[in-house]
Amino acid sequence: MSRHYKDTGARCVYCGQQGTTDNPITAGHIIPRARGGTNEPTNYQPECRRCNSSKGAR
Ligand SMILES: [Zn+2]
Repeated sequence: MSRHYKDTGARCVYCGQQGTTDNPITAGHIIPRARGGTNEPTNYQPECRRCNSSKGAR
């Protein structure tokens, strides 16, 4: 079982905010799948939903 970032009090690596109800922390890929990133735990980092979606849009 992998631990949920939202349960650890992790902060977003981009904006440094802790998760909130409106903008929760999610597990984002360090190397995007599109660039050959894997689904291994080492390829995840805590990102808030806002930063995660803005990253994906680029
Ligand atoms: Zn963020």
